[in-house]
Amino acid sequence: MDYEQVIGKIYEEVKSFWGQGKVADYIPALAEVEPRQYGIAVQTLKGQAYQVGDAETRFSVQSISKVFSLAMVTRHLGDELWKSVGREPSGNPFNSLVQLEHEQGIPRNPFINAGALVVTDRLMSLYNRPKDAIIEFVRSVCGNDDIYYDKQIAQSEREHAERNLALAHFMKSFGNIKNDVETLIDVYCHQCAISMSCVDLSRAFLFLANRGLNPFNREQILTVSQAKRLGALMLTCGFYDESGDFAFRAGLPGKSGVGGGVAAYIPGNLVITVWSPELNRHGNSLIGMETLERFTTDIGNSIF
Ligand code: GLN
Repeated sequence: MDYEQVIGKIYEEVKSFWGQGKVADYIPALAEVEPRQYGIAVQTLKGQAYQVGDAETRFSVQSISKVFSLAMVTRHLGDELWKSVGREPSGNPFNSLVQLEHEQGIPRNPFINAGALVVTDRLMSLYNRPKDAIIEFVRSVCGNDDIYYDKQIAQSEREHAERNLALAHFMKSFGNIKNDVETLIDVYCHQCAISMSCVDLSRAFLFLANRGLNPFNREQILTVSQAKRLGALMLTCGFYDESGDFAFRAGLPGKSGVGGGVAAYIPGNLVITVWSPELNRHGNSLIGMETLERFTTDIGNSIF
């Protein structure tokens, strides 16, 4: 398969979608990002790498980081985690509060903000220096030590974190947050502010496409069964209230972030990542969604 040609063609065609979405502005530092940027990277398990456009420009991975924190916690806690977080699509926006009261402070899934906050809270209980542990984990799965937090974005989100603070306090009232809420929000804002390019992310997702085995250092990060579960959660919940639509259009497990990144993979085969900061009304990259749909359609391959 000539992936170079496939992504080159998609890039030229989908560029015309510029201007249809809107850059996230509820985190002021994200509102300053130049909207008309677009990159695609493909990384195969066999070691071939392809890219087009702004694939080496770093951006804020935001909710894509929830995959890394979940992997870190799953490998230590195993099924214990599922007592505190569900695994059903929520059908609600990523930062919604509505289901939490009915469901006694147990978030629907680990990818909506409430669920990700519980995961990060457990991570804080597992590691003395959680921020260091997260960045070290990402560096190791990426096979690249040159990955950092964007402190300015972390700070900006921290200053406007009312909703995430509310979610965390509310869950704490049900006993589902164990650590100090202010510290939790600080760690969470940092993990969302990890700065990576499409190329970095396409490498960092390889262990998921590889049944939990990190191809860079041969470490089995997740068991085969845990990797299956993470993929299933991405397929069903990775795009919030647009998860069904993403599965329908792209047919892949994947995860989006409000920085405009999307990472998805074909198990046993490849990772594809897209970045374009303009978002649709669900908070997913408009161009990212379109690109992934065209990619699996053009190559005639998905998980189905
Ligand atoms: N940091 C963002 C938030 O908590 C992440 C949301 C996202 O990328 N969907 O609101």
